Amino acid sequence: MSKKIIQSVRGMRDILPEEQRYFSFLRNIFETACEQSGFQKIYTPTVESTQLFEKTVGKATDIVEKEMYTFKSKSGENLALRPEGTASIVRAYLENGMTSKPQPVKLYYQLPMFRYDRPQAGRYREHWQFGVEALGEKSPLLDVTVIALALRIIKQSGLSNTSLQINSIGCHLCRPKFKKSLVNFLKENEKKLCVDCKRRLKTNPLRVLDCKNDSCQSITNESPQMINSLCSSCHEHFRTILEYLDELDILYEINPRLVRGLDYYVQTVFEIWSELDGSQSALGGGGRYDGLSEIIGGRKTPGIGFGLGADRIVAALQRENIVPEVKNRVDVFVIQLGKEAKKKCFKLIYELQNMGVGAEGSLDKGSMSDQLKMANKLNVPYTLIIGQKEAFSDTVIIKDMASGCQEIYPQEKIAKEILKRVEKIHR
Ligand SMILES: [Zn+2]
Ligand SMILES: [Zn+2]
Repeated sequence: MSKKIIQSVRGMRDILPEEQRYFSFLRNIFETACEQSGFQKIYTPTVESTQLFEKTVGKATDIVEKEMYTFKSKSGENLALRPEGTASIVRAYLENGMTSKPQPVKLYYQLPMFRYDRPQAGRYREHWQFGVEALGEKSPLLDVTVIALALRIIKQSGLSNTSLQINSIGCHLCRPKFKKSLVNFLKENEKKLCVDCKRRLKTNPLRVLDCKNDSCQSITNESPQMINSLCSSCHEHFRTILEYLDELDILYEINPRLVRGLDYYVQTVFEIWSELDGSQSALGGGGRYDGLSEIIGGRKTPGIGFGLGADRIVAALQRENIVPEVKNRVDVFVIQLGKEAKKKCFKLIYELQNMGVGAEGSLDKGSMSDQLKMANKLNVPYTLIIGQKEAFSDTVIIKDMASGCQEIYPQEKIAKEILKRVEKIHR
C-alpha cells in the first residue's frame, strides 16, 4: 500500500535554508536602514476584521473583490488574513494612542501578506512584505524621505537595474474632475477595451490606466492625464517632491499610468521596478494616504509609506547573480571514536555551546573519515578528536583545519582553550 505525503497548500511555499540567506541578508539591510532613519519596529496581527480592508482598500479593488482570504470565526465575526500592511498599521496607530506622540510616528514591519491570487511563477498567496509607514505629517519632504529610504534599501541589496516610477493621482478635490473626463474619454473607446477594463470603467476607472492589455494601452496613450488636472496644492506638493529628488540626485520617471489601484491613495504614488532583459517587475511601491485614518474612524492624519516585496527582491537578487555571504556560526566539530569517547564528546559539545561557542558533532556516523568529511563540509576552523586512547587518558586532540597542525590538550582545559581561540577569530 502506498501512502501519499500530505502536500503544502496551493500557492503557499516553504522558504528553505538555502533561500533564507537571501531573506536574512535583506532583513538586515532593511532593519538597519529603517532604524538609522528613525523608524521603529511594529508587528500587527495576521488576522483583522474584514471591514478594515473593505472600507480602506476599497470594495471595487482586486484585493477585496477577489483576493482576500476571509472566514467567519466560531463566534461569527467576519475576519480576514491581512492582504496588505498599511490599513493595519494605521489601525494600530489609532488604537494604541500614537496620535499623542510626537509626530510623525515612523514605523516599519516585516510581515507576511495573504492574497488569493492566481498562483504563477514567483508569485505566492503568502508573501513577505517589508514596509514602512510615516504618520502625522503632511510635508512633501516626508514623501521624499520615504522614497529615498526605499531606494537606499534596494541599492544596498546590490540590485542595479532598477528605476523609480512616480506619479501624483491628486486629491478628493481634483481627482473627481479628472475621473469624469477620463471616463468620458474611455466611453468613446469602450468597444476596444478588454473585458476587465469594461468593468473597471464602472467600478474603478483609474485602473484602466495600468492595464497591461495592448489594445487598452493604445487607447490610454491618448487619454487625459492626472498630472495636467492637479489642483494647486497637489501640484505644489508634487513639484516640491520632484525638486527635492533632483536635489538628492535621485533619478525618476514620471509615469502617468501609475495609479496603484487602492482607494486610499492620494497625491504621491511610486514604485521601484527591476528591469532586466527588457522585462519589468515591481519590487515594491507605496504612496500617500491622508484620508485613511478618517475612514477607520480616527481624526484626520496624513501618512505615507511603502511596501517592498521581499520574495520578489530575493528573486531579482538571484537573477542578477548576487549571492549574500553567510556567516558560519559553527566553530568546532567534535569527532569521536568508541563508546567511551562518544559520551565525553557529547558532554564537551554541550559545555562549549554553554560557553557560547558554536559546536557540533556526529552522534551517529562512526568512522573517522566520515566525521572528517562532515567537519570539512561545515568549514570549521577547528576539529576536536577524542579517540579510544584520548578517552582513556583524558586528553583531546585539537586539529587546526587550515594548517593541519595537531596538538594534544588535557580534557579539563580544552573548552577554555577553544573559547580563547574562537574569540580571536570573531574579534
Ligand atoms: Zn488636489
Ligand atoms: Zn484592459
